[in-house]
Amino acid sequence: MTATDQVDVVVVGAGVVGCAIAATLARRGHEVLVLERAAREGTGVSSRNSGVIHSGLYYPPGSLKAVTCLRGQELLYSWCAAHGVAHARPGKLVIARSDEEEAALQALAANASASGARGCVLVGAEEVRRREPDLPAVRAALWCPDTGIVDVHALCGSLRADAEAHGAVFSLRARVEAAEVASDSVVLQTTRGPVAAARVINAAGLHADEVAAMLGATSPPIFPCRGDYFSLRTRARYRHLVYPVRARGAAGLGVHLTLDLAGAYRLGPDVTYVERRDEFGPAGDKLAAFHRAACALLGPIAEDQLSYDGCGIRPKLRAPGEPDERDFAVFASQNCVHLVGIESPGLTAALALAEHVAALL
Ligand SMILES: Cc1cc2nc3c(=O)[nH]c(=O)nc-3n(C[C@H](O)[C@H](O)[C@H](O)COP(=O)(O)OP(=O)(O)OC[C@H]3O[C@@H](n4cnc5c(N)ncnc54)[C@H](O)[C@@H]3O)c2cc1C
Repeated sequence: MTATDQVDVVVVGAGVVGCAIAATLARRGHEVLVLERAAREGTGVSSRNSGVIHSGLYYPPGSLKAVTCLRGQELLYSWCAAHGVAHARPGKLVIARSDEEEAALQALAANASASGARGCVLVGAEEVRRREPDLPAVRAALWCPDTGIVDVHALCGSLRADAEAHGAVFSLRARVEAAEVASDSVVLQTTRGPVAAARVINAAGLHADEVAAMLGATSPPIFPCRGDYFSLRTRARYRHLVYPVRARGAAGLGVHLTLDLAGAYRLGPDVTYVERRDEFGPAGDKLAAFHRAACALLGPIAEDQLSYDGCGIRPKLRAPGEPDERDFAVFASQNCVHLVGIESPGLTAALALAEHVAALL
């Protein structure tokens, strides 16, 4: 492989994380080239998620997920305000309806507080009824006023535009296929020809473990884990995102109700480990399970109020059957930094992950 000019930093992947890293590094004066195999930015995991700006309730205090979620939430709201990215802050209720759920809710509130989550308070049945009169009675809830929603497509576009305004170059339809790491440089073989870089940031989402292997690094393997969604048509009016208490050891937050910026309701995502990283085919066979989950959360709903609404695939580091969640894996190898296992809250955390990477460089 030969490559002529050497750039300072190559970022592999133009998802929300790669775009945030490109913007952050370009603003700090680095020469940045982003290599993206797709025809546009933000078409990978970043295009198939709930668009929720999380509050950092669920992660072990001090973990990279907890720290970058909280810092990322703050940075993301500022970014959206400064760059005109559509977003809203409807807040979220995590609800409990039994003794067992109430105990789990108390533990969640304690974890949120130990992590430094902002503004979260336990509220009683009356306060929930006042906030969400169409919700069946609950015992208690955790009210999270800073949880929000964002237009992810617009966010990725704004990050790319800002990176470009600070000199970064985006090379699209440029899949990285092989790499040679030398003592002071890395040469990447791409579908658009060879590229030489002093340093490479691997932000390849669902394929980050494969890209890490190309770059000679030992990475934890990614287990693709699919989450499906159903949209909900209803005359009920909900103002907040509504979540059940997460079941102990579950690999997801439980089927929950989210709102989009147009005010539409969506239920999901559920959790199914899959063999392939592109297993996006329809899953109408999940209707009965979603119907049960929807009724448990929101009260009586007819099955025909639900319609299948697509899916996303999480790049999980937690293997099927493993008891606990894993943290984001952000690590260095020779001339490279890798971001592997950037599942939720990766959208919320993107700008904080970018700060973290900038500090590692
Ligand atoms: C169902 C679901 C719901 C979620 N909900 C939320 C949520 O509500 N809030 C939240 O904070 N987070 C959420 N997340 C997590 C969030 O979506 C991800 O953490 C985030 O989008 C990851 O961004 P990324 O840039 O790392 O990955 P991606 O967006 O996948 O970007 C990686 C890019 O790398 C490119 N690429 C891969 N291999 C190569 C190669 N060899 N050469 C060149 N380019 C390559 C891909 O084409 C892709 O564009 C959710 C995730 C899922 C799956």
